[in-house]
Amino acid sequence: MGELTFDTHIMEEIRSGQKLPIVERFVTISGEAPTMGQPMYLVRFSGCNLSCRYCDTPYRNEINEILTIAQLCDDIDRIRISYPGIIILFTGGEPLLEPRGTIVTDIAMRLHDVQFYVETNGSMMIDEAAPDNLHYVLDWKTPSAGGGETFCVDNLHRMRADHDVIKFVTDESDLPYIKEKIELIRSKNESIRVYLSPQTGKIELTKLADFILSNKLNAAISVQLHKIIWGEKRGV
Ligand code: SF4
Repeated sequence: MGELTFDTHIMEEIRSGQKLPIVERFVTISGEAPTMGQPMYLVRFSGCNLSCRYCDTPYRNEINEILTIAQLCDDIDRIRISYPGIIILFTGGEPLLEPRGTIVTDIAMRLHDVQFYVETNGSMMIDEAAPDNLHYVLDWKTPSAGGGETFCVDNLHRMRADHDVIKFVTDESDLPYIKEKIELIRSKNESIRVYLSPQTGKIELTKLADFILSNKLNAAISVQLHKIIWGEKRGV
């Protein structure tokens, strides 16, 4: 689908959060921790504040439809009735780009019997008062992403160990940085779950496993299951 153009009135409604710019939405199988393998409804918000070297969503700034919050809630409600137990993933781009952080919380509170996961790049503050059905997956950007230190370290105090997780997408050169950051995470919170996700073709799984075990790290490997199932395809 091509990128649409909008008049200044609609762009202002997007900026103010009255309307939400969407790249795509579809039912799929979750490819990554902590929900790997589960059926989910993926909603990809448009726009990102970073430009990581290895980004696999170069179409992250497309706006292919614009929904009000009420329309998105109705859509999610329809999906969860037609597919009982399905989880919802808000991703991007960056789903917490201002003013969407509070909107995401609002949607989760409205649909309190649905489980929501928010895949964020960690540079935005998460909601420390998030409801129990809202879970954050914070992707801590490493040097190979090329954007410098972007992770908001205050989030370590806001995360709830039984709800939120940290993920590092890594190549071989990132490993010393990740070891240092895991030590930092553990000094602040011993129970936050940490996942290491290998960049495709940039690190062998055996190397990653050796890294975890030889350093006695409390961290798990997460592979991109959707790419194993469907390959490098858009919309899955
Ligand atoms: S934060 Fe995610 S969507 Fe944004 S540029 Fe980086 S990898 Fe791409």
